[in-house]
Amino acid sequence: MEGALVLLSGGQDSATCLAWALARFERIETIGFDYGQRHRSELEARQCLLTALRSAFPDWAERLGPDHVLDLTVLGRISETALTRDHAIVTTDAGLPNTFVPGRNLLFLTFAAALAYRRGLKHIVSGVCETDYSGYPDCRDDTIKALQVTLNLGMDQRFVLDTPLMWIDKAETWRLAERLGGKELVEMIRTETLSCYRGDTEHMHAWGRGCGTCPACDLRAKGYAAFIATVSQ
Ligand code: ZN
Repeated sequence: MEGALVLLSGGQDSATCLAWALARFERIETIGFDYGQRHRSELEARQCLLTALRSAFPDWAERLGPDHVLDLTVLGRISETALTRDHAIVTTDAGLPNTFVPGRNLLFLTFAAALAYRRGLKHIVSGVCETDYSGYPDCRDDTIKALQVTLNLGMDQRFVLDTPLMWIDKAETWRLAERLGGKELVEMIRTETLSCYRGDTEHMHAWGRGCGTCPACDLRAKGYAAFIATVSQ
């Protein structure tokens, strides 16, 4: 049986990816990155989610191995973005939101592969998505496929970069969570994960915690509303 390393940020997407991996692989470990985020609540959310998952899903807990948090604060020092500096969230002249941290996913996946190599894990699972993504070029399917080739050539391995959310939207991501872990998992992801760019944990909405106005909250709110609309039909 194969093992997987899941990139877990503390948001809805990566939490769903973790459940996806737990339903599939024999041995699962998680990795998170401290890249100098403006807020720490994302890193706190991932710990709460892991604790909640372990207690609510004993079968999964048996296969859920160590959690690794890597210090990538150097990324925050070299990038000038709204996620790592106290800037307003706007679209740049290049047509990208200024929440885009250049090279972030490339570095995350490369460090994940280096760790997966040492831990003997074949699959690297991430929640990147092309469907309703924010225009981040390193979330594209072609980017991930190219990186898979590069990592396998450069490390002489046969890693598989799994992207279970690549072609689904946020409403379908909620439906996937429901298929994997029922209403209990949906409720856990709703209450424990944090997608907000501002790291707002004060305000609770139908779709979870967040400021309610940033692009990430907007996307999450719309996706949850679309999910609930189909559930109640
Ligand atoms: Zn927000």
